[in-house]
Amino acid sequence: MSDGRRPPANDNSAATRKCPICGQAAQLRFKPFCSKRCSDVDLNRWLTGSYAIPVTEDDTSSEGETEGPSGPR
Ligand SMILES: [Zn+2]
Repeated sequence: MSDGRRPPANDNSAATRKCPICGQAAQLRFKPFCSKRCSDVDLNRWLTGSYAIPVTEDDTSSEGETEGPSGPR
């Protein structure tokens, strides 16, 4: 067998990480993002994914402009 050749298993350095938002090199300060801006962007995505519920499928809601396909006019 061949020896002396080890696969780079632990080659997951933080410095080589890239910002998932813009793809630039991530900064340790804003890990895993490159800047606070990208961090905010990602955070916003999470928030909007959980918070931003534009229309609630609830027939009990009397007030609210329902702009759906099932809107009797
Ligand atoms: Zn970025």
